[in-house]
Amino acid sequence: MGNVPSRPRRPARPARARAAVAPPSIIPELTGPCLCGAAETYAACCGRYHRGDAAAPTAEALMRSRYSAFALRDPVYLIRTWHASTRPSRLDLGDGRTWERLQVLGKSGGSLFDTEGEVRFRATYVEDGARGAQEETSRFIREGGEWLYIGGLAESVRP
Ligand SMILES: [Zn+2]
Repeated sequence: MGNVPSRPRRPARPARARAAVAPPSIIPELTGPCLCGAAETYAACCGRYHRGDAAAPTAEALMRSRYSAFALRDPVYLIRTWHASTRPSRLDLGDGRTWERLQVLGKSGGSLFDTEGEVRFRATYVEDGARGAQEETSRFIREGGEWLYIGGLAESVRP
């Protein structure tokens, strides 16, 4: 870095001016690929399920939409798609993680014709400036035509 003349200081903006705006990383891309990594836009992919316009037709679609809900910090959707037997009473998503990428590693069951399914995935995030990753095998069951998350086994892995 050379000797760059310092600019005159601008008065600090009032904090209130930006408070209503979500950090850019979690604003859904309306024209690009969905947060879950699918080629469709957010509105045509996970957004439809988040809005309640449709129910996720497969366990994988539900898992993807739940990942996107984590990325968007939407506890309401996460609670709504959690089976009553294992659902937490509240969910605090303010853990400072920015979810970056989802990769589906494998699945069994969970199709339109199943009532149970498992999906194994890897999710990458940034927390305190460091990249991390987690792999999980999530279990889902279908009740009343809707897929619900019932539990999973997560482990931290190398990003
Ligand atoms: Zn999606």
